[in-house]
Amino acid sequence: MNAYDIAIEQLKSSWKHIDHDKSYLEILSKPKRELQVSFPVKMNNGEVKVFTGYRVQHNDARGPYKGGIRYHPNVDLNEVRALAMWMTWKTAVVNIPYGGAKGGVTCNPKEMSKPELERLTKKFTIMISPIIGPYVDIPAPDVYTDAQVMAWIMSTYSQLVGHQEPGVVTGKPIALGGSLGRTTATSRGAVIVAKEAAKIVRKSIKGAVAIQGYGNVGANAAIIAKELGAKIVAVSDSKGGVYNENGLNPLKLLEHKEKTGSVINFPGAKNITNEELLEIKCDILIPSAMEGQIHKGNANNIQAKVIVEGANGPTTPEADKILFDNGVLLVPDILANSGGVLVSYFEWLQNLSRNYWSEDEVNKMLVKRIREAFFDIYTISKSKDIDMRTAAMVVSVNRVVEAMKLAGESP
Ligand code: GLU
Repeated sequence: MNAYDIAIEQLKSSWKHIDHDKSYLEILSKPKRELQVSFPVKMNNGEVKVFTGYRVQHNDARGPYKGGIRYHPNVDLNEVRALAMWMTWKTAVVNIPYGGAKGGVTCNPKEMSKPELERLTKKFTIMISPIIGPYVDIPAPDVYTDAQVMAWIMSTYSQLVGHQEPGVVTGKPIALGGSLGRTTATSRGAVIVAKEAAKIVRKSIKGAVAIQGYGNVGANAAIIAKELGAKIVAVSDSKGGVYNENGLNPLKLLEHKEKTGSVINFPGAKNITNEELLEIKCDILIPSAMEGQIHKGNANNIQAKVIVEGANGPTTPEADKILFDNGVLLVPDILANSGGVLVSYFEWLQNLSRNYWSEDEVNKMLVKRIREAFFDIYTISKSKDIDMRTAAMVVSVNRVVEAMKLAGESP
Protein backbone atom coordinates (compact mmCIF):
# COMPACT_ATOMS: atom_id res chain seq x y z
CA MET A 1 0.00 0.00 0.00
CA ASN A 2 1.49 3.35 -0.96
CA ALA A 3 0.74 6.54 0.97
CA TYR A 4 -2.01 7.58 -1.46
CA ASP A 5 -3.75 4.18 -1.07
CA ILE A 6 -3.60 4.73 2.70
CA ALA A 7 -5.08 8.22 2.42
CA ILE A 8 -7.95 6.89 0.29
CA GLU A 9 -8.52 4.00 2.67
CA GLN A 10 -8.77 6.44 5.61
CA LEU A 11 -11.28 8.54 3.69
CA LYS A 12 -13.37 5.49 2.76
CA SER A 13 -13.48 4.12 6.27
CA SER A 14 -14.51 7.49 7.71
CA TRP A 15 -17.40 7.64 5.23
CA LYS A 16 -19.35 5.15 7.38
CA HIS A 17 -19.85 8.04 9.80
CA ILE A 18 -20.58 10.70 7.16
CA ASP A 19 -24.02 11.45 5.78
CA HIS A 20 -23.12 13.17 2.51
CA ASP A 21 -23.75 11.76 -0.94
CA LYS A 22 -21.23 9.10 -1.99
CA SER A 23 -20.26 11.20 -5.02
CA TYR A 24 -18.30 13.46 -2.64
CA LEU A 25 -16.23 10.47 -1.61
CA GLU A 26 -15.31 10.00 -5.24
CA ILE A 27 -14.58 13.69 -5.78
CA LEU A 28 -12.41 13.94 -2.65
CA SER A 29 -10.47 10.79 -3.50
CA LYS A 30 -8.76 12.66 -6.33
CA PRO A 31 -6.72 15.88 -6.27
CA LYS A 32 -8.24 18.77 -8.19
CA ARG A 33 -4.98 19.58 -9.95
CA GLU A 34 -1.59 17.90 -10.33
CA LEU A 35 1.48 19.47 -11.85
CA GLN A 36 4.58 17.41 -12.61
CA VAL A 37 7.67 19.22 -13.81
CA SER A 38 11.16 18.31 -15.00
CA PHE A 39 13.95 20.83 -14.96
CA PRO A 40 17.73 20.91 -15.41
CA VAL A 41 20.10 22.10 -12.69
CA LYS A 42 23.78 22.76 -13.17
CA MET A 43 25.71 20.88 -10.46
CA ASN A 44 28.96 22.16 -8.94
CA ASN A 45 31.07 19.77 -11.02
CA GLY A 46 29.65 21.26 -14.23
CA GLU A 47 27.32 18.33 -14.92
CA VAL A 48 23.66 19.01 -15.72
CA LYS A 49 21.13 16.95 -13.79
CA VAL A 50 17.43 16.77 -14.59
CA PHE A 51 15.15 16.72 -11.54
CA THR A 52 11.46 15.87 -11.25
CA GLY A 53 9.13 17.83 -8.99
CA TYR A 54 5.43 18.01 -8.18
CA ARG A 55 2.77 20.34 -6.86
CA VAL A 56 -0.51 18.60 -6.13
CA GLN A 57 -3.57 20.65 -5.18
CA HIS A 58 -6.16 18.47 -3.52
CA ASN A 59 -9.03 20.80 -2.58
CA ASP A 60 -9.62 24.55 -2.22
CA ALA A 61 -13.27 24.70 -1.16
CA ARG A 62 -12.38 26.39 2.15
CA GLY A 63 -9.65 28.75 0.91
CA PRO A 64 -6.34 28.87 -0.96
CA TYR A 65 -4.38 25.65 -1.27
CA LYS A 66 -1.81 25.25 1.51
CA GLY A 67 0.98 22.78 2.21
CA GLY A 68 4.69 22.15 2.35
CA ILE A 69 7.36 21.28 -0.16
CA ARG A 70 9.50 18.22 0.51
CA TYR A 71 12.98 17.43 -0.83
CA HIS A 72 13.64 13.70 -0.47
CA PRO A 73 14.87 10.80 -2.63
CA ASN A 74 11.57 8.90 -2.10
CA VAL A 75 9.30 11.72 -3.29
CA ASP A 76 6.89 10.49 -5.97
CA LEU A 77 3.47 11.47 -7.26
CA ASN A 78 1.53 9.12 -4.99
CA GLU A 79 3.29 10.35 -1.87
CA VAL A 80 2.63 13.98 -2.78
CA ARG A 81 -1.04 13.16 -3.53
CA ALA A 82 -1.45 11.63 -0.07
CA LEU A 83 0.29 14.52 1.64
CA ALA A 84 -1.88 17.02 -0.28
CA MET A 85 -5.08 15.24 0.80
CA TRP A 86 -3.92 15.17 4.42
CA MET A 87 -3.37 18.95 4.23
CA THR A 88 -7.04 19.43 3.24
CA TRP A 89 -8.13 17.55 6.36
CA LYS A 90 -5.52 19.25 8.54
CA THR A 91 -6.53 22.82 7.67
CA ALA A 92 -10.19 21.85 8.11
CA VAL A 93 -9.70 20.12 11.45
CA VAL A 94 -8.16 23.23 13.02
CA ASN A 95 -10.62 25.37 11.07
CA ILE A 96 -8.31 27.72 9.20
CA PRO A 97 -9.49 29.09 5.84
CA TYR A 98 -7.31 27.01 3.55
CA GLY A 99 -7.49 23.99 1.32
CA GLY A 100 -4.81 21.35 0.95
CA ALA A 101 -1.78 20.93 -1.34
CA LYS A 102 1.73 19.53 -1.24
CA GLY A 103 4.85 19.70 -3.33
CA GLY A 104 8.09 17.85 -3.60
CA VAL A 105 11.26 17.35 -5.58
CA THR A 106 12.86 13.93 -5.89
CA CYS A 107 16.42 14.65 -4.78
CA ASN A 108 18.84 14.00 -1.94
CA PRO A 109 19.57 17.38 -0.34
CA LYS A 110 22.07 15.72 2.04
CA GLU A 111 24.34 15.13 -0.95
CA MET A 112 23.89 18.59 -2.45
CA SER A 113 25.70 21.84 -1.73
CA LYS A 114 23.89 25.01 -0.74
CA PRO A 115 24.39 26.69 -4.16
CA GLU A 116 23.04 23.54 -5.87
CA LEU A 117 19.96 23.58 -3.62
CA GLU A 118 19.50 27.27 -4.34
CA ARG A 119 19.58 26.70 -8.10
CA LEU A 120 17.22 23.72 -7.78
CA THR A 121 14.78 25.72 -5.66
CA LYS A 122 14.77 28.71 -7.99
CA LYS A 123 14.18 26.53 -11.07
CA PHE A 124 11.44 24.59 -9.32
CA THR A 125 9.75 27.82 -8.23
CA ILE A 126 9.68 29.11 -11.79
CA MET A 127 8.15 25.82 -12.94
CA ILE A 128 5.33 25.88 -10.37
CA SER A 129 4.87 29.67 -10.37
CA PRO A 130 1.77 29.62 -12.63
CA ILE A 131 -0.20 27.80 -9.93
CA ILE A 132 1.08 29.33 -6.66
CA GLY A 133 0.47 32.75 -5.11
CA PRO A 134 -0.71 34.34 -1.84
CA TYR A 135 -4.38 33.87 -2.74
CA VAL A 136 -3.96 30.67 -4.76
CA ASP A 137 -1.54 28.22 -3.18
CA ILE A 138 0.94 28.94 -0.40
CA PRO A 139 3.89 26.53 0.06
CA ALA A 140 5.81 26.02 3.32
CA PRO A 141 8.68 23.87 4.61
CA ASP A 142 8.40 20.10 4.95
CA VAL A 143 10.94 17.26 5.17
CA TYR A 144 14.47 18.58 4.35
CA THR A 145 13.32 22.08 3.41
CA ASP A 146 13.63 25.06 5.72
CA ALA A 147 13.38 28.85 6.06
CA GLN A 148 16.28 29.34 3.62
CA VAL A 149 14.48 27.35 0.92
CA MET A 150 11.33 29.45 1.55
CA ALA A 151 13.40 32.63 1.18
CA TRP A 152 14.59 31.46 -2.25
CA ILE A 153 11.03 30.63 -3.30
CA MET A 154 9.78 34.01 -2.14
CA SER A 155 12.52 35.97 -3.87
CA THR A 156 12.07 34.08 -7.15
CA TYR A 157 8.30 34.49 -7.08
CA SER A 158 8.66 38.18 -6.16
CA GLN A 159 10.93 38.76 -9.15
CA LEU A 160 8.40 37.09 -11.43
CA VAL A 161 5.48 39.25 -10.26
CA GLY A 162 7.53 42.43 -10.00
CA HIS A 163 7.07 43.23 -6.33
CA GLN A 164 7.97 41.78 -2.91
CA GLU A 165 5.34 39.15 -2.09
CA PRO A 166 5.99 37.68 1.37
CA GLY A 167 2.53 36.03 1.50
CA VAL A 168 3.41 33.51 -1.22
CA VAL A 169 5.16 31.15 1.23
CA THR A 170 5.21 30.62 4.99
CA GLY A 171 8.02 29.40 7.20
CA LYS A 172 10.26 32.22 5.95
CA PRO A 173 13.21 33.68 7.86
CA ILE A 174 12.09 36.41 10.30
CA ALA A 175 14.05 39.03 8.36
CA LEU A 176 11.91 38.33 5.27
CA GLY A 177 8.51 38.40 6.96
CA GLY A 178 8.54 35.07 8.76
CA SER A 179 6.63 34.68 12.01
CA LEU A 180 8.17 34.33 15.42
CA GLY A 181 7.39 30.87 16.74
CA ARG A 182 6.95 29.23 13.30
CA THR A 183 10.05 26.99 13.49
CA THR A 184 8.97 25.42 16.76
CA ALA A 185 5.21 25.52 16.06
CA THR A 186 4.68 21.93 14.87
CA SER A 187 6.56 20.60 17.89
CA ARG A 188 4.91 22.94 20.38
CA GLY A 189 1.48 21.89 19.12
CA ALA A 190 2.42 18.19 19.27
CA VAL A 191 3.72 18.48 22.83
CA ILE A 192 0.60 20.36 24.01
CA VAL A 193 -1.54 17.64 22.51
CA ALA A 194 0.68 14.96 24.09
CA LYS A 195 0.25 16.61 27.46
CA GLU A 196 -3.56 16.58 27.22
CA ALA A 197 -3.70 13.05 25.80
CA ALA A 198 -1.43 11.74 28.56
CA LYS A 199 -3.77 13.10 31.23
CA ILE A 200 -6.69 11.24 29.65
CA VAL A 201 -4.91 7.88 29.96
CA ARG A 202 -3.78 8.77 33.50
CA LYS A 203 -0.19 9.35 32.45
CA SER A 204 1.71 12.61 32.43
CA ILE A 205 3.92 14.61 30.09
CA LYS A 206 6.43 14.20 32.93
CA GLY A 207 6.68 10.51 32.02
CA ALA A 208 8.96 8.73 29.54
CA VAL A 209 8.86 10.04 25.96
CA ALA A 210 10.34 8.41 22.84
CA ILE A 211 10.73 10.38 19.62
CA GLN A 212 11.39 8.96 16.16
CA GLY A 213 13.07 11.54 13.93
CA TYR A 214 15.40 14.30 15.06
CA GLY A 215 14.75 16.91 12.39
CA ASN A 216 12.95 20.18 13.03
CA VAL A 217 9.83 18.49 14.45
CA GLY A 218 11.47 15.75 16.53
CA ALA A 219 14.30 17.82 18.01
CA ASN A 220 12.07 20.74 19.00
CA ALA A 221 9.48 18.35 20.43
CA ALA A 222 12.21 16.84 22.63
CA ILE A 223 13.35 20.28 23.78
CA ILE A 224 9.84 21.56 24.53
CA ALA A 225 8.70 18.32 26.20
CA LYS A 226 11.80 18.38 28.42
CA GLU A 227 10.96 21.97 29.42
CA LEU A 228 7.58 20.64 30.59
CA GLY A 229 9.30 17.98 32.68
CA ALA A 230 9.33 15.02 30.27
CA LYS A 231 12.07 12.41 30.39
CA ILE A 232 13.26 11.87 26.81
CA VAL A 233 14.29 8.21 26.95
CA ALA A 234 14.92 7.57 23.25
CA VAL A 235 15.35 9.46 20.00
CA SER A 236 16.42 8.46 16.50
CA ASP A 237 17.17 9.73 13.02
CA SER A 238 17.60 8.06 9.64
CA LYS A 239 20.88 6.44 10.78
CA GLY A 240 19.51 4.90 14.01
CA GLY A 241 18.62 5.81 17.57
CA VAL A 242 19.85 6.13 21.15
CA TYR A 243 18.31 5.09 24.45
CA ASN A 244 18.84 5.92 28.10
CA GLU A 245 16.11 5.00 30.55
CA ASN A 246 17.24 7.84 32.85
CA GLY A 247 16.71 10.44 30.12
CA LEU A 248 18.73 12.19 27.43
CA ASN A 249 19.59 15.89 27.13
CA PRO A 250 17.87 17.13 23.91
CA LEU A 251 20.11 20.18 23.45
CA LYS A 252 23.29 18.15 23.85
CA LEU A 253 21.83 15.60 21.42
CA LEU A 254 21.25 18.34 18.89
CA GLU A 255 24.84 19.55 19.25
CA HIS A 256 26.05 15.96 18.83
CA LYS A 257 23.92 15.51 15.69
CA GLU A 258 25.18 18.78 14.24
CA LYS A 259 28.77 17.69 14.86
CA THR A 260 28.59 14.05 13.78
CA GLY A 261 25.63 13.99 11.40
CA SER A 262 23.51 11.70 13.61
CA VAL A 263 22.22 11.13 17.13
CA ILE A 264 23.85 7.68 17.23
CA ASN A 265 26.92 7.13 19.43
CA PHE A 266 25.74 9.81 21.85
CA PRO A 267 27.90 9.54 24.98
CA GLY A 268 26.14 7.77 27.87
CA ALA A 269 23.40 6.27 25.69
CA LYS A 270 22.86 2.86 24.12
CA ASN A 271 22.52 2.66 20.33
CA ILE A 272 19.22 1.18 19.15
CA THR A 273 17.56 0.73 15.78
CA ASN A 274 14.59 2.74 14.55
CA GLU A 275 12.43 -0.38 14.88
CA GLU A 276 13.50 -0.83 18.51
CA LEU A 277 12.72 2.80 19.26
CA LEU A 278 9.05 2.35 18.35
CA GLU A 279 8.73 -0.62 20.69
CA ILE A 280 10.68 0.87 23.58
CA LYS A 281 9.16 1.08 27.08
CA CYS A 282 7.72 4.59 27.33
CA ASP A 283 4.49 6.46 28.05
CA ILE A 284 4.36 8.71 25.00
CA LEU A 285 5.64 7.93 21.51
CA ILE A 286 6.05 10.75 18.99
CA PRO A 287 6.80 9.43 15.47
CA SER A 288 8.24 12.46 13.68
CA ALA A 289 9.95 10.91 10.68
CA MET A 290 8.37 9.33 7.61
CA GLU A 291 5.21 7.46 6.52
CA GLY A 292 4.34 3.84 7.23
CA GLN A 293 6.52 3.35 10.31
CA ILE A 294 3.85 1.79 12.55
CA HIS A 295 2.29 -1.15 10.72
CA LYS A 296 0.61 -4.47 11.40
CA GLY A 297 4.02 -6.09 12.00
CA ASN A 298 4.94 -3.91 14.99
CA ALA A 299 1.71 -2.27 16.24
CA ASN A 300 1.11 -5.01 18.81
CA ASN A 301 4.58 -4.50 20.32
CA ILE A 302 4.12 -0.81 21.02
CA GLN A 303 4.27 -0.13 24.75
CA ALA A 304 3.38 3.57 24.72
CA LYS A 305 -0.12 4.45 25.93
CA VAL A 306 -0.19 7.64 23.86
CA ILE A 307 0.99 8.15 20.27
CA VAL A 308 1.20 11.68 18.89
CA GLU A 309 1.87 11.75 15.15
CA GLY A 310 4.43 14.50 14.60
CA ALA A 311 5.02 13.12 11.09
CA ASN A 312 2.43 12.81 8.33
CA GLY A 313 1.12 9.29 7.75
CA PRO A 314 3.35 7.30 10.15
CA THR A 315 0.62 4.72 10.92
CA THR A 316 -1.05 2.32 8.48
CA PRO A 317 -4.83 1.63 8.67
CA GLU A 318 -4.18 -1.94 9.92
CA ALA A 319 -2.01 -0.60 12.73
CA ASP A 320 -4.68 2.00 13.59
CA LYS A 321 -7.12 -0.81 14.27
CA ILE A 322 -4.67 -2.83 16.38
CA LEU A 323 -3.72 0.21 18.47
CA PHE A 324 -7.36 1.19 19.03
CA ASP A 325 -8.21 -2.36 20.15
CA ASN A 326 -5.19 -2.28 22.48
CA GLY A 327 -6.46 0.91 24.13
CA VAL A 328 -3.65 3.13 22.86
CA LEU A 329 -4.74 6.76 22.49
CA LEU A 330 -3.43 7.85 19.09
CA VAL A 331 -3.64 11.52 18.15
CA PRO A 332 -3.64 11.59 14.33
CA ASP A 333 -1.23 13.63 12.22
CA ILE A 334 -3.93 15.95 10.84
CA LEU A 335 -4.51 17.17 14.39
CA ALA A 336 -1.25 16.37 16.20
CA ASN A 337 1.09 18.18 13.81
CA SER A 338 -1.31 20.95 12.78
CA GLY A 339 0.61 23.49 14.89
CA GLY A 340 2.89 24.05 11.90
CA VAL A 341 0.18 25.08 9.48
CA LEU A 342 -1.66 26.99 12.21
CA VAL A 343 1.33 29.26 12.71
CA SER A 344 1.80 29.34 8.92
CA TYR A 345 -1.70 30.83 8.86
CA PHE A 346 -0.67 33.39 11.49
CA GLU A 347 2.41 34.23 9.42
CA TRP A 348 0.28 34.73 6.31
CA LEU A 349 -2.13 36.99 8.22
CA GLN A 350 0.83 39.03 9.44
CA ASN A 351 2.18 39.27 5.86
CA LEU A 352 -1.14 40.40 4.40
CA SER A 353 -1.75 42.97 7.14
CA ARG A 354 1.92 44.08 7.43
CA ASN A 355 1.39 43.91 11.18
CA TYR A 356 3.64 41.60 13.19
CA TRP A 357 2.89 39.72 16.41
CA SER A 358 5.10 38.96 19.41
CA GLU A 359 6.31 35.40 19.97
CA ASP A 360 4.18 35.24 23.07
CA GLU A 361 1.04 36.18 21.12
CA VAL A 362 1.80 33.55 18.47
CA ASN A 363 2.43 30.79 21.02
CA LYS A 364 -0.66 31.65 23.07
CA MET A 365 -2.91 31.60 20.01
CA LEU A 366 -1.35 28.33 18.82
CA VAL A 367 -1.88 26.61 22.16
CA LYS A 368 -5.46 27.87 22.42
CA ARG A 369 -6.48 26.73 18.92
CA ILE A 370 -4.83 23.31 19.04
CA ARG A 371 -6.16 22.49 22.52
CA GLU A 372 -9.70 23.40 21.42
CA ALA A 373 -9.40 21.20 18.34
CA PHE A 374 -7.97 18.36 20.44
CA PHE A 375 -10.85 18.38 22.93
CA ASP A 376 -13.49 18.71 20.17
CA ILE A 377 -12.12 15.69 18.35
CA TYR A 378 -11.56 13.67 21.52
CA THR A 379 -15.17 14.28 22.62
CA ILE A 380 -16.52 13.14 19.26
CA SER A 381 -14.33 10.02 19.28
CA LYS A 382 -15.64 9.12 22.74
CA SER A 383 -19.29 9.77 21.95
CA LYS A 384 -19.18 7.71 18.74
CA ASP A 385 -16.72 5.12 20.08
CA ILE A 386 -14.37 5.64 17.15
CA ASP A 387 -10.65 6.36 17.03
CA MET A 388 -9.43 9.94 16.94
CA ARG A 389 -8.32 9.69 13.30
CA THR A 390 -11.81 8.77 12.19
CA ALA A 391 -13.31 11.49 14.40
CA ALA A 392 -10.93 14.10 12.95
CA MET A 393 -11.72 12.92 9.42
CA VAL A 394 -15.47 13.15 10.03
CA VAL A 395 -15.17 16.75 11.26
CA SER A 396 -12.90 17.85 8.43
CA VAL A 397 -14.70 16.08 5.61
CA ASN A 398 -18.01 17.57 6.81
CA ARG A 399 -16.47 21.05 6.80
CA VAL A 400 -15.04 20.59 3.30
CA VAL A 401 -18.22 19.13 1.81
CA GLU A 402 -20.34 21.85 3.40
CA ALA A 403 -18.15 24.48 1.76
CA MET A 404 -18.34 22.68 -1.60
CA LYS A 405 -22.12 22.50 -1.40
CA LEU A 406 -22.55 26.15 -0.42
CA ALA A 407 -20.27 27.23 -3.24
CA GLY A 408 -22.34 25.24 -5.67
CA GLU A 409 -19.66 22.66 -6.35
CA SER A 410 -22.29 19.92 -6.20
CA PRO A 411 -21.98 17.08 -8.67
N1 GLU B 1 4.67 20.77 5.98
C1 GLU B 1 3.88 21.08 7.13
C2 GLU B 1 2.75 20.09 7.28
O1 GLU B 1 2.80 19.00 6.79
C3 GLU B 1 3.45 22.52 7.18
C4 GLU B 1 2.53 22.96 6.08
C5 GLU B 1 2.26 24.46 6.07
O2 GLU B 1 2.63 25.15 7.00
O3 GLU B 1 1.66 24.89 5.07
O4 GLU B 1 1.78 20.35 7.94
